[in-house]
Amino acid sequence: MAAPIVPTKYQAKYGNPGGSKSGFTPLSPRISDLQPVSNEENFQRNSLRGYTTTELIDLDAHSSRQFKEGNLQNPIWEFMDRQRWELLDYPPIPLPGGGPNLTNGYWTADNDIVWNIMTPILRLASRVFSRLPLHPWFDAFLFGEFSLIPLERLPTDVSGVPANDGMRQQFRCFKLREPRPGNAEQCAEYVQRLVDNVFSKCVRLGFKTKRRLPSKYLNEGYDDQLIEKLKSSNGLTILNYAPGTIDVWISIESLEQLLDLNNDLNSGERLVLQYRMATIIIHEFLHVLFHASRRSYDFDNLTYNAGAMIEDFFDDEIVAELGWSGENAVSSGTCTKIAA
Ligand SMILES: [Zn+2]
Repeated sequence: MAAPIVPTKYQAKYGNPGGSKSGFTPLSPRISDLQPVSNEENFQRNSLRGYTTTELIDLDAHSSRQFKEGNLQNPIWEFMDRQRWELLDYPPIPLPGGGPNLTNGYWTADNDIVWNIMTPILRLASRVFSRLPLHPWFDAFLFGEFSLIPLERLPTDVSGVPANDGMRQQFRCFKLREPRPGNAEQCAEYVQRLVDNVFSKCVRLGFKTKRRLPSKYLNEGYDDQLIEKLKSSNGLTILNYAPGTIDVWISIESLEQLLDLNNDLNSGERLVLQYRMATIIIHEFLHVLFHASRRSYDFDNLTYNAGAMIEDFFDDEIVAELGWSGENAVSSGTCTKIAA
């Protein structure tokens, strides 16, 4: 009888359906383009956005060497801190090994297992956020020149009707303003006002899972397409018109890897995951800032401005999405996971 196939430690960690070793094992380079492409190479290029493992190692995008652990000690901003993570979703999501009778508990900030994972992430997000007023993109977002975008930049609508001036009124773009010595102070003061007057009253955070819609939205009558979009997102920011709250949801799926259940996460992977989660949180808080800046909503009178619910384009970018636009400005690119 043939011996049972034992998965290698890399297969156990990185997976490869149907094989006994990881499909991500580095491959020897092909000698020439005439040599046929192997199934393993196809698998890697399909899974890794066109790269092979060897190429990612050569680019130093994937490394098993030991990195220095994050050691930020700056405080977590009050509006991201532990007391802001309320129990937004019910029933809460059990941790692996958690649940009603098990000790690991749930994905809630009052759980020390969760908070230990979140602390370095939130320190990093807080550090970046506190520096944002120094960034020209952020300066433009708050105080740049806003204008309606040219008609020719608008696409036809879904039924093929060309854009008209009425549609144009809904879309604006913002541009960098002239650099001046007082710009950063003006931005910082404005953000502090938003924190004091809006964030402190209305921002709540919670954990969601991609496996189901947060229970509070189950009876909203959303169509299937929107439900899928809400479910599958890594982060989600929702303005509730009444009672005037902004809910920020972070998906647990990437955080789950930081639980390191198999005790095989290397230091580089841990840092990448922490950076990615911090970026997701910053992304969502850029959406929070859009709402908090009162373009869309008056938090004193609980009324919304229906004409200003669409986010603005930055300069000549082709997508009006402040989270991606801000990420792109701050990190010179957007942060997505490389494995499909
Ligand atoms: Zn977004």
